[in-house]
Amino acid sequence: MSAGKRSTSGQQRATFRFYEELNDFLPPDRRKIAFDYAFNGTPSVKDSIEAIGVPHPEVDLILVDDESVGFDHLLNGGERIAVYPMFERVDIAPLTRLRPNPLREPRFVLDVHLGKLARYLRLLGFDTMYERDYDDATLAAISRKERRLLLTRDKGLLKRNEVTRGYWLRNIQPRLQIAEVVEAFDLRRAVRVFSRCMVCNHTLETVAEASVRDALPAGLRGQFEQVSQCPGCDRLYWPGSHYDKLVDLVSNLISE
Ligand SMILES: [Zn+2]
Repeated sequence: MSAGKRSTSGQQRATFRFYEELNDFLPPDRRKIAFDYAFNGTPSVKDSIEAIGVPHPEVDLILVDDESVGFDHLLNGGERIAVYPMFERVDIAPLTRLRPNPLREPRFVLDVHLGKLARYLRLLGFDTMYERDYDDATLAAISRKERRLLLTRDKGLLKRNEVTRGYWLRNIQPRLQIAEVVEAFDLRRAVRVFSRCMVCNHTLETVAEASVRDALPAGLRGQFEQVSQCPGCDRLYWPGSHYDKLVDLVSNLISE
């Protein structure tokens, strides 16, 4: 047995350093520096990280003495631990990432009270589940089962074991939140405006204007060859509608 530092009594210490946006979860005196963390027994690195205040779904890579480890790695004392966020921009491909790979076509499930953000995400074309009555267990289950990224303002929700893909929104205002999400997940190139219904999340279909003419405002009838229609709720989307203003608004936000 090589773990000579193991001790059943008394406190051990390890040195932690958190990178990039993981520092948002730390008190000011622990941000962007290495600090000592004291513990008893041999806790997992995951439990230690969460005890320090960082929800594990935010973490993508853990180095213990320069070796990448999984969440279940046990601490014995004396280690130097570097913890990187889910979407660290430096190239860490050769190392063990804790998640299979970054979300190429990100799909979302949103915590309650994030209805405006849900509409913005759908407006940009992102598959977004949102219902006002989802409880925490439901949100976690959807996220896990459908591999959806759980967006929330509730750090406690991200600490649930079954949540492996999650992100804590720093901003409170929906307009700032949509800009934050696009930036955090590098979504600009994946934006497809008017491809999805803002209200019910279905993918829009192109239909001949003549087939839905009666449902269009009188002044617009006969102006287009085609319009978009939601197969879920029959809502129509057409060029020049008031949704265009939303597109402009959101485009401006995410280009800033
Ligand atoms: Zn719809």
